[in-house]
Amino acid sequence: MAKYVYTFGAARAEGRAGMKDLLGGKGANLAEMCHLGIPVPAGFTITTEVCTYYYEHGGTYPQGLREDVEKALAFMAEVMEARFGDPDNPLLVSVRSGARQSMPGMMETVLNVGLCSSTIPGMVRRTGNERFVYDSYRRLIMMYADVVMEKAAGIEPAEGEAIRVQLEHLMDARKKEKGVTADTDLTADDLKALCDAFRRRVEEVLGKPFPDDPMDQLWGAIGAVFQSWNGKRAVQYRRIEGIPDEWGTAVNVQAMVFGNMGERSATGVGFTRNPATGENSFYGEWLPNAQGEDVVAGIRTPYAINEASKNDANRHLPTLEEAMPEAYQELLEVRNRLERHYRDMQDIEFTVQEGRVWLLQTRTGKRNGPAAVRMAVDMVDEGLIDKAEAVIRVKPNQLDELLHPMVDPAAERSARPLARGLPAGPGGATGRIVLTPERAEERAAAGETVILVRIETSPEDVHGMHVAEAIVTAKGGMTSHAALVARGWGKTCVVGCGALEIDVAAGTVTVGDTVLREGDVITVNGTKGVLYAGELPLIVLDPERHEHLARFLGFCDELRRLGVRTNADRPEDAAQARRFGAEGIGLCRTEHMFFGGERIRAMREMILAETPEERARALEKLLPYQKEDFKGIFRAMEGLPVTVRLLDPPLHEFVPHEDAQIRELAETMGKDPEAVRTRVAQLREMNPMLGHRGCRLGISYPEITRMQARAVLEAAAELRKEGVDARPEIMVPLVGHVAELQDQKRLILEVAEEVKRATGVDDLPFLVGTMVEVPRAALTAGEIASEAEFFSFGTNDLTQMTCGFSRDDAGSFLPVYVERGIYPKDPFQSIDQEGVGQLVALGTERGRAARPDLKVGVCGEHGGDPDSIAFFHRVGLDYVSCSPFRVPIARLAAAQAAVSETA
Ligand code: PEP
Ligand code: MG
Repeated sequence: MAKYVYTFGAARAEGRAGMKDLLGGKGANLAEMCHLGIPVPAGFTITTEVCTYYYEHGGTYPQGLREDVEKALAFMAEVMEARFGDPDNPLLVSVRSGARQSMPGMMETVLNVGLCSSTIPGMVRRTGNERFVYDSYRRLIMMYADVVMEKAAGIEPAEGEAIRVQLEHLMDARKKEKGVTADTDLTADDLKALCDAFRRRVEEVLGKPFPDDPMDQLWGAIGAVFQSWNGKRAVQYRRIEGIPDEWGTAVNVQAMVFGNMGERSATGVGFTRNPATGENSFYGEWLPNAQGEDVVAGIRTPYAINEASKNDANRHLPTLEEAMPEAYQELLEVRNRLERHYRDMQDIEFTVQEGRVWLLQTRTGKRNGPAAVRMAVDMVDEGLIDKAEAVIRVKPNQLDELLHPMVDPAAERSARPLARGLPAGPGGATGRIVLTPERAEERAAAGETVILVRIETSPEDVHGMHVAEAIVTAKGGMTSHAALVARGWGKTCVVGCGALEIDVAAGTVTVGDTVLREGDVITVNGTKGVLYAGELPLIVLDPERHEHLARFLGFCDELRRLGVRTNADRPEDAAQARRFGAEGIGLCRTEHMFFGGERIRAMREMILAETPEERARALEKLLPYQKEDFKGIFRAMEGLPVTVRLLDPPLHEFVPHEDAQIRELAETMGKDPEAVRTRVAQLREMNPMLGHRGCRLGISYPEITRMQARAVLEAAAELRKEGVDARPEIMVPLVGHVAELQDQKRLILEVAEEVKRATGVDDLPFLVGTMVEVPRAALTAGEIASEAEFFSFGTNDLTQMTCGFSRDDAGSFLPVYVERGIYPKDPFQSIDQEGVGQLVALGTERGRAARPDLKVGVCGEHGGDPDSIAFFHRVGLDYVSCSPFRVPIARLAAAQAAVSETA
C-alpha cells in the first residue's frame, strides 16, 4: 500500500529534502531540518498523492489514510509529551499547505487546531495563562470559520460580509467598548466573552455550529487545505508562474509552538543573507509576544532581529539580539548550519516559546537580481559553490533588474520627495497611479505603464501586481506580501509608506495637502524607498562599475561557448553594447541611417529617380553620410567584427503617402506632383513583406548595392590608414537562391577592387555573407555556403515565412494561439524549436558541410531570448546577436546552456 503520511520530529524523519515532489517543499525541508538536528516541532506530512486522489475521487481520501494519521498523531504525542485531543494535556496543531514550489500566501493555513470545550481547561491549567488560551481560541475561530467553513465550503459572501470581517468588527467593538486600542489590551474575560460571541455569530451566519471536537477540526482543516489548491488566487498564481495543476499540494500537520505566550516568547522570519542586497549577514524581522501571522500581515511594525536588519521604521525598536541574546545566538547557529548544508540563502520562519527556539520552515529564499548576483559571486569566493553552480543560480531576467533603469540621482537631488517607505524592490519606475488590481490590468492592457498603489496587498491582488511597473503600499514591512511578491518578480517596490492616505472609492492618494488622483504620474525609487509626484528621468547603470556583476559575467564568459554580438546601428548603441560585453555587431541595419534631415530627401530622390543616372546622382549624395555612419560604428567596435546589412525594407517605407507631403516633395525635387504620386502608387504592394525588398532591391538597382559597399569599404580603408582596425562583414539580406548572392557578391567584389585601387589600401580584410531568413536559403544552404563566408539566421523573417504568420499582423490572433496552447509561446519571441528551429539546424549542417569554416550566427529577436539561446547553443551556432541591453542576459543564457549540457 502506498505510504501517505511521513512523520518528522526529535531529530528523526521519514522524509528528506530530495522528496519535494511527494512532500512539497515545506514538508521535505522540515524533514531535512530534523536530520540536521535543528529543533522542529514534531508533525507529519500528508503527501501530494493524496491531493491528487482527493481531486480524482470527489473530495474523498484513500483507504488507510485515517489510520496513518492516527499513528502519526501518536508519534507526535510521544515526542511532544502532549496528546492531540487529550483533556488533561492537550496538543494543538497547525495545518498548512506546501506545494513542490513555494506559492507564498496563495493557499490556506489553520492554526491552534484542537482547542475546544474539552481541551481548553487542560490547556489553561498547563500554561497557567487563561488569557493566552482564549486568545488562541479566538484566532482559531476566526481562521477556521474563514478558511474551512466559508471558503472551502464555496460560500462567496457579499463585499464586507465575509465571516472574518464580521468577527473582526465584533472584536473592534469590544475594544471600543473597553476603551483600548491594542489587541493585547483585552483581558482573559474579554476574550472569553468574545469567543462566545464569535461562536454564536458563526452559527448564525454559516448555519452550522463551530466544531467542538478536535478530530472534526483536524479533518476539516486538512480538507480545506486540499481545497485551497484550487482556490481562485492559487490558480491565478499557477498560471503566472507556469506551475502545473497536476502537482497538487501536501498538507503539513505540526505541533503548535507559541510565540504569544508572553514576553519571553516571540515569532519572526529571517533570511540567511540580505535578500535585497545579497550582503552576507543574517537578516530578519521579529515581534515579541506574537504569532507568525502578525509579522506577515503588517498589523504591527516588525522589529529588526539585529543591527544589520534595521530600517527607518524600526530603528528605535529593540532587536532580538538585544532582547533575547541566547535565543538569537541559537538562531544564528541554525542560520550557519542551514547555509552550510543547503549552500544557498534560506528563508526561515521561527518561533521562540518561553525562551526556546523552534524552526517552523526553511526554503530557498527569493531574492532580487542584484542580491542574486552578489550571493552567487560571494558563495564562489567562500568556497560554497563552484562557478557553474553560480551561473545557474541567477535567472536571466534577474540581470534585467541590474540593467534596468534607476531614478537619475541628479534629478532626484533637486526633487521634493512625496513620501518615504521601505525599499522592498530596487530600481526606478515612473507610471500612472492605479488603485486596484483590476484597474491595473485594464490600463496595462491599454498600453499604459502603471504603478499599483495599495494600502497593503493580498494574494488576491497578484494579477494586478504582475502587470504593474512598480508596487507601492501604505502598510507592511520588508517581509509583507507586497515585498515578497515584488522581490520574486524583480519589481520596483516601496512598502510601508505610512504617509499615504488611499481612498479607493474617491480614486485619490493624499499626502499632507497634496492630492493625487488615479491616472496621475508618480516616480518610485525602490532602491531607496522614496516616492515623487510627477516624472523623474530614469538612467541605466553601467555594469562596468558594478563590481559583482562584472565578476559574475566574467564567470559566464569562462563557461560559455556561444559568442555574443549586438544588433546596433548607431555608434552610441554600439559603444553601450560593447560596455555590456558585446563581441562585435551581428546586425547593423543600414536603413535606419536614411531617415532624418537631408538624408531622407536624398533617399527619396533616389527612390523616385526615373533613370539610372538620376538614381546614381541621388546615391552620390547619400554616400558621404553612410561612410561617416560606418566610420563611427567601426571606431566604436574597433578590433571586433561589424556585420553591415545592405538595404532591406521595401522602398515605399521611405516615401510620403499623404497628398500635402507628396506635393511638397515634388516641389523640392522640381517634379510634377502627378508623376510623384504615380511613382508612390507604383511602389505600393499587396504583400510588401514578400515583395520588392532585401537583395531584390540590390538586384534591380545595382547602384544601391554599389554605393553601400563603397561606403563600407571606403570607411574601413580610411580608418585603416589612421591605424584603426575596422573589420567589416557585408551581409546580403533575404537571399533564397544562390544566384542572388552571386549577383550581389560580384558587385561588392568589384567595388572592393576599385576602393583598394583608389585608396591604395591593399590590406583590406572583409567578409561577404548572407542572411538566412527565407526557408529556401536554409534548404539550399550547401549551395549558398559555396558563395557565403558567413550565415546569419534572420529568425524574424524565417519565422514569418516558415509559419506563414505575418510579422506585422500576427498580433490579432497569436495571443489566442498562445492562450490555447497551439503554440506554447509566441514564436516571434521564443523560437519555434520543432518547426523554424529545424531549418536553423539543417541550414547550419548543410552550410558547414559545404564550407567547414562557415561562421554561423543569428540576428533575429530570438538572439536575446534565453530559451532560444539554449537552442542555438545545442544546434552549434557560433554566436547570437541581440539588442545592447540584452547582451549581459545573452552571456548568462549562453553560459547556462553550456553548463546544463555538461551536467
Ligand atoms: C530577421 O528577419 O530576423 C532580421 C534580423 O531582419 P529584420 O528584422 O530586419 O527583417
Ligand atoms: Mg529580415
